[in-house]
Amino acid sequence: KDGVYLEIQTTLYDKNDHLIFVRDVTRLHLLEQMRKDFVANASHELKTPLTVIKGYLETLSLFKDNLPKSMQKGIDNMSDQSDRMEQLIEDLLLLSRLEGNDKREESQWFNLIDVVHAISNVTAPMLTDKHTLSADIPDDARIYGSYKDLYSAFSNLIVNAIKYSPDGGTIQIKWESGEFNGVFSVKDSGLGIEPRYIPRLTERFFRVDKGRGSKTGGTGLGLAIVKHVLLHHDAKLHIRSQPGVGSTFSCYFPANRTRIDTIPALPTPI
Ligand code: ADP
Repeated sequence: KDGVYLEIQTTLYDKNDHLIFVRDVTRLHLLEQMRKDFVANASHELKTPLTVIKGYLETLSLFKDNLPKSMQKGIDNMSDQSDRMEQLIEDLLLLSRLEGNDKREESQWFNLIDVVHAISNVTAPMLTDKHTLSADIPDDARIYGSYKDLYSAFSNLIVNAIKYSPDGGTIQIKWESGEFNGVFSVKDSGLGIEPRYIPRLTERFFRVDKGRGSKTGGTGLGLAIVKHVLLHHDAKLHIRSQPGVGSTFSCYFPANRTRIDTIPALPTPI
């Protein structure tokens, strides 16, 4: 029936018998849809007032030098926090779009090295002289997918590698392609993560160290975005990490998204 959602599960009961569980999850599905709509609408509605606040703040900043020191500090604080809020709204809107399967970004073949170069240009100011960033990406490495969404996913991984290596260290970006898949990985020698937290990292707003967020400036949505972008590309995220040693985030893409020769030829038109 239209609008009814059922969850079906089968288990082997005996040698030849199966148990089939059918659960009506219509209400759960509706609640989940209401949650998604609420987040999407609220984020969208917050955008306009924030644009107005940021506009006035920019004007106020022009006259900052004539104001007392305490007020100058207040303006800087408000600017930082409104930038943070803007990033949070952008991330929430991106997550909403990724969760609503209907609005997919267009896919195309593109060179991986182009995305990595574009991200490195933006992240360069975050690096200190104690950081070493290297990228081992063959010139002919390509991916079939949404450039915009994969840019967001890879950039979240690279920004995290830098953010969570506060004392510096090496960050290695790598592409390895095999017969069955292509793997994009970001390895850092930073803080690392305790094993018990790893399964929860892609939850929305999950942070290992809750207090760290305000210092590092993250939104807690980065890895949730990575997970959803990868889902759209039939890809999987693997996380390996050791506290005090570092972490490796690897994205496994199926061969048909990384090698042109694996795409079946189109039938010749008659
Ligand atoms: P945030 O905006 O807080 O960085 P993310 O969703 O990107 O949110 O990451 C969730 C949490 O996972 C982070 O708050 C941090 O605790 C942990 N984390 C992510 N990447 C790394 C990394 N490379 N090294 C150590 N911890 C990390």
